[in-house]
Amino acid sequence: MSDLLERLRRRGWRMTAQRRVVAEVLDGEHVHLTADEVLARATARLPEISRATVYNTLGELVSLGEVVEVSSVGRAKRYDPNAHSAHQHLVCAGCGTVRDVHPEGDPLAGLPEAERFGFTVTAVEVTYRGLCPVCGAEENPVEAGDA
Ligand SMILES: [Zn+2]
Ligand SMILES: [Zn+2]
Repeated sequence: MSDLLERLRRRGWRMTAQRRVVAEVLDGEHVHLTADEVLARATARLPEISRATVYNTLGELVSLGEVVEVSSVGRAKRYDPNAHSAHQHLVCAGCGTVRDVHPEGDPLAGLPEAERFGFTVTAVEVTYRGLCPVCGAEENPVEAGDA
């Protein structure tokens, strides 16, 4: 659950009309938009908003730690307002839909000391890839073992 606007209000973030629209576009659950998607949605709400303001605001929200950048190989960076609850991502290889998921147990349990090479591990990022129900239904049934 994202409460981005509420968090920003609480910390006294300077909320102009333009900056507010960027925060509103990002607020919500399972939101992982690219910068261009944020720009398109912000422009739909506030046509006079500038690209520079959108990009600068995104950068500021990231440096404040209220929005997290999610990088995915081969795809544009996405902006995630779910910044304060540890979670992993389930990504559709078809349409790019991203869901926040919360695996059970200690995420480090699967990595034995011998595999840590002396590192002190401070964060774990796991990406589960596959097809969402919509894309899965569009695929024709494939013969098993024909991967
Ligand atoms: Zn999909
Ligand atoms: Zn997320």
